[in-house]
Order: sequence, then structure tokens, then C-alpha cells
Amino acid sequence: MSKNISFQLLFLCGLHCFAQEIFQQTFYKMGSDFELTIVADNQKDAEEIFAISSAEIDRIEQLISSWNPSSETSQVAAMAGLRPVQVSNELIGLVERSCYISKLTGGAFDISYAAIDGLWEFDGGTMNAPSAKQIEASIAKIGYEHIEIDPIAQTLFLQLPDMKMGFGAIGKGYAADRVKAMLIEKGISGGIINAAGDMSAWGKQPDGTPWKVAVVNPMDKRKVFAWFSLHDNAVVTSGDYERFVIINGKRYGHIINPKTGFPSEGVVSCSVFAPKAELADALATALFVMGVEVGINFINQLPQVEALMIDEQGKIFTSTNIDLDETI
Ligand code: AMP
Ligand code: MG
Repeated sequence: MSKNISFQLLFLCGLHCFAQEIFQQTFYKMGSDFELTIVADNQKDAEEIFAISSAEIDRIEQLISSWNPSSETSQVAAMAGLRPVQVSNELIGLVERSCYISKLTGGAFDISYAAIDGLWEFDGGTMNAPSAKQIEASIAKIGYEHIEIDPIAQTLFLQLPDMKMGFGAIGKGYAADRVKAMLIEKGISGGIINAAGDMSAWGKQPDGTPWKVAVVNPMDKRKVFAWFSLHDNAVVTSGDYERFVIINGKRYGHIINPKTGFPSEGVVSCSVFAPKAELADALATALFVMGVEVGINFINQLPQVEALMIDEQGKIFTSTNIDLDETI
């Protein structure tokens, strides 16, 4: 499990006692494990569903990958500072929503953070801090307000030379939403997608009960401190458990404060509950940058969104209307 808070599926029904059964498959996609759990009539049907789901995640990865030079995202970056690039409506939509979340979070979430990506190596090793000059030069290329979106011409233009877009903080959530929507359309009555701890559910288990997820204390993973039911919604966690770097003996996680160019500090884990995984994913990353006080206050002002944050001292903070069921 790559997250500080891990979410575990608990199936309260036996696998073979209902007409429909639960089937599960794990794919390695977007650099993480995607675990798909669905309700289906038989193994053959389930395998078909797994195959189309896998293909859909591959398609999205091809659209948003920063590593693949032929992706639309890379093509836009290649023309940064030069000219607009025509892209699919799908990418326009994702970038529009990303920029909207940037505005909402005062720039804490910003896909253009990616201009600084090369300065930090979050592989769990030790490195020297980038120089102030390097940081300054990279920050100058960050700023969602410099992403020019033309929905009529269907183009994206990164106005500053060497600007980039990186979808690491929203892509898995988007993929989870897409797969969920596709499977609902295919008539799959219930399921749950776990994209490296980003959970998105719909429908119910075969026995009619909701999908249940455990919240594990990141300070002691054997201890479940709360349970909750996932109805047609998502919970996404951002944490610095695996992707980090050590500089002068201090550990820095992989979420960058776009204003300073440095990894954000003070928070070890953020979980966001929202109707869509995409929004939950982006907000969980933003909360890391915003910190506990500003973050919880911000979430309390959003309808249908709740959050649970854990600071460096292991202290837990929750938004006002969070609905954790500790009685199960
Ligand atoms: P997540 O696990 O969803 O919080 O995403 C973390 C990933 O998002 C990082 O590994 C980066 O690829 C990217 N990222 C880092 N900082 C930011 C930021 N401030 N805004 C948007 N994406 C970011
Ligand atoms: Mg995220």
C-alpha cells in the first residue's frame, strides 16, 4: 500500500452465496496498482469487463502521459512559448477542470507545477537541495493562469517557454471516474476501483449492503480507527509514504508548493471524500500544500466534500460533517 492511510475493502458477504458474485483483478497502470472489484454473473463476463477497463486506463494514460513524447500533453509542452496546439475535447475538459481547482485552492493545486519536476528526485534516496537560482528559474515557469485554453479552436497554449503540465495529482482520479462511468453504462450494478488507495465506488455488494472501507492509522497500520460506507462516491488519499527524498537528514514528500518550489511540509496524510474521484484527488493534493488549518477550513466551505488530515505529530483533523462509522 503506497499511502499513509490505507483503505481496505471488507466484503461482508460470502463470495458464492448469491446469484451475482464479486470478481477482482489488479492491473499495474500509471505507475501504480489499480484494483478493480465488480459484481458480475460469472467469470467470463467479469474478464470482459476487466479487459475493457484496462484498455480505458491505457487510453487515458496515453492522453496525459508526460513521458510519452507522442501524448497530447507532451505535444502541448513541446510548443510551450511558441504556439497553441490542437488537442482532444477530453484533454481540454481535464485542463479546464484542473485550472478551476487551481483557482478554488488559490494555486495550491496546479498542473503547471511540473516545470519544477526535474529538480527533485522523489525516489526515497538522498540528494542535495537545488540551488535558490534553480528554484527561482523553475518557479518562474509555474502558473496555471499562463495556460491558455481555447475551447472553440480546441487548442491549449502554454504561454511561457519550458512550461509543462503534469497530471500526477488528478490523473488516477480521472481514470477511476471514467472506468466507473463506462461500467455503469455497461450495466455493471456495483463495483469499487482502488487506484493506489484512491477508492471510487458505485452500487452495492451482491447481498445489498454498501461497500465498506477501513481507515487505518498511519502511525500504526494494524489499527483501524474508523470504518465508513462508500455509496456512489470516492475517497482519495495523498501521502508521502513512498515518494520522498532526504536532504540534510530531513525527509521531504513529493507534493510541491507551487509558490515556493519546495516540497510542502507539516502534513503526512490527507484523505478527501467527494462525489467524484477526480475532484477528491486534486483536493487531497491541494490540502497538503494548504496545511491543516487552512485546508480544513476550506473543505468546510465546500458542499458534499469532507476531509481527514494527519499532521507530522500524528494528530488527526476532520472536517465538520465527516461521516465515519466507528461502530462497525
Ligand atoms: P497525489 O498523490 O494525488 O497527491 O499526487 C502527487 C503528484 O502530483 C506528485 O507526485 C506530482 O506528480 C504532482 N504534484 C506535486 N505537487 C503538485 C501540485 N502542487 N499541484 C498539482 N500536482 C502536483
Ligand atoms: Mg491527488
